[in-house]
Amino acid sequence: MQGTRSLFVPGPTNVPEDVRKAIDVPMEDHRAPDLPAFTLPLFADLKKIFKTDTGRVFLFPASGTGGWEAAITNTLRPGDKVLASRFGQFSHLWIDLCQRHSLNVEIVDVDWGEGVPLDIYAERLKADKDHKIKAVLVTQNETATGVQSDVSGVRTALDDAGHPAMLYVDGVSSIASVDFRMDEWGVDLAVSGSQKGFMLPAGLAIMCASEKALEASKSAGLARCYFDFQDMIQTNDSGYFPYTPPMTLIRGLRCSVDRLLDEGLENVFARHHYLAEGVRKAADAWSLRLCAKEPKWYSDTVSAICLPDGYDSGELLARAYHRYGISLGAGLSKVAGRVFRIGHLGDMNEVMLLSALAGTEMALRDLGVPIVAGSGVAAAQEYYRGAANGYSDLL
Ligand code: PLP
Repeated sequence: MQGTRSLFVPGPTNVPEDVRKAIDVPMEDHRAPDLPAFTLPLFADLKKIFKTDTGRVFLFPASGTGGWEAAITNTLRPGDKVLASRFGQFSHLWIDLCQRHSLNVEIVDVDWGEGVPLDIYAERLKADKDHKIKAVLVTQNETATGVQSDVSGVRTALDDAGHPAMLYVDGVSSIASVDFRMDEWGVDLAVSGSQKGFMLPAGLAIMCASEKALEASKSAGLARCYFDFQDMIQTNDSGYFPYTPPMTLIRGLRCSVDRLLDEGLENVFARHHYLAEGVRKAADAWSLRLCAKEPKWYSDTVSAICLPDGYDSGELLARAYHRYGISLGAGLSKVAGRVFRIGHLGDMNEVMLLSALAGTEMALRDLGVPIVAGSGVAAAQEYYRGAANGYSDLL
């Protein structure tokens, strides 16, 4: 097709031009004497993204799933009990990974469309008088259902129960897009990936571990080698890596971190909220409901939108892709066929999103979904136009 295909899946996200250029460099010597002058300030700046002074950042050549594995294997022992809730494909897969690593997962199943159940977590933690639970898992943003959870609320539940379990956060589709506070929320392990809020290709698991997690890593009993924190620490301390790092991605990361810090994290978060609101206005104008059941669960990085009965979101995606050149996110697992997703994270602005809404709208009408032509686009336009002097006007 002519023109560019447009990417509105919730990761990989669009890679900005300057980040692409930063990646497009000749191969370099990853043991060069001047490498630390590049890597050490980058590690320091990444800590700003996680909002931590005391945590330690790790970059593993992996995707987010590798980050999960690193978090678990470095800090826990076989048979350790972890508390986790399942409300979408990614929270499900994290639990599966824990189980395959022979952890004993206490699973709280929640309706897909809701998020981490703070009340149940609080009850379970209070009831666990012997402190058998070693880790509490939180998927901050369930990408499959467009549900955002309250990480600080989980910290409060832990503190109220006087419970020493570590707090693990999957921030793959939230960190660097929505607020995340490693130190303030007492997070022990945070996992992200390069291909979402960091606006890079997939290939880097970007993680942060607290001092408590690093202490646990000295005696954790699960097998690991490639993902060993201690090996990483030994080489990272002098600015190097224990094996060949993906230097092009790391060069790109320097540029994406600069972009995030130049824009200002609070502005990045405000922009994501504002863009998401426009998409929610469009869904409302189409009379289509979000998979997220209540506003408190609404995700600012991805909207999962339900189709009326009798329509197949797979067909919608195929039509949008082949006829209009846009990629939307599919419904996964339990919500396959019933939900489609619009990713609104990373390098994104109003006009880009309006094109996603216009393409979606045409594909919806082609399928026969009863929506009024232009209604979603108009609703989003009017919302965005309300921000006469920039989105801070609307927030
Ligand atoms: N966690 C969440 C919330 C995700 O959205 C994803 C991927 O989309 C993952 C984990 C897995 O990450 P990856 O596909 O980078 O391994």
